[in-house]
Amino acid sequence: MITLILIKSIFKIKSEEKSLSEVSLEKLTETMKTCIACQLHKDRTQVVPGIYGPKNGLCLIGEAPGYNEDLKGQPFIGRSGKLLDKMLNNVGLVRGKNLSILNVVKCRPTIDGSNRTPTASELKFCGEKWLTKQLQILKPKLLVTLGGISLKFFFPKASVTRSAGTIMVSTDGYPIFSTFHPAYLLRNGRPELYEKYESHFKEITDIMNKDSSTISEIAPLEPAKPKSQKKLTDFFEK
Ligand code: SF4
Repeated sequence: MITLILIKSIFKIKSEEKSLSEVSLEKLTETMKTCIACQLHKDRTQVVPGIYGPKNGLCLIGEAPGYNEDLKGQPFIGRSGKLLDKMLNNVGLVRGKNLSILNVVKCRPTIDGSNRTPTASELKFCGEKWLTKQLQILKPKLLVTLGGISLKFFFPKASVTRSAGTIMVSTDGYPIFSTFHPAYLLRNGRPELYEKYESHFKEITDIMNKDSSTISEIAPLEPAKPKSQKKLTDFFEK
């Protein structure tokens, strides 16, 4: 009887913990959708919070919404999104089911009505305001940066061409696998680049399939920190 009561109380605590964190992510997202904290809100159709998968799972990080993403309210729509989904689906990964996809910047940066790359200060401001909080709740086992811009949010001096395919550990302690943005492949799509991209997603799946929870287990070798790696603040204070 006592055992049954104990099991019931543990189960109750666990479900309360779960629902609490779920409410937090939901609440955070609802607040984010009304954000007008920087100038980017003026040209957006809507905030693009991202797509959430399970906690302690895989999380892909892009830079910012473009035209299509701004209209639909979802990250990685259009040709880039289709290529990304193909790469993911090849290794059994499906957005929202077993991975999250988020952008560092949540509103579309524009210039004369066209897409533009977010500035360093936009990355820092929006990224620290929302992405870091999303990650604190999601607690991903592995982050994957797609392209050089999202990589720079975590490693300001890193270059995607040098670090693609390696794991680095961020100053916040996240293991981060760096790979290319799908748009880069569409622009420069040499067959060997596609092969490399496919191999990256296989590696990512292998890491996720490992029954490991610590950074040293995920990245057993010395993390490939770029020599010039500094704290985020060093970059933006220049
Ligand atoms: S870009 Fe980020 S900080 Fe700026 S208004 Fe949008 S959600 Fe808010």
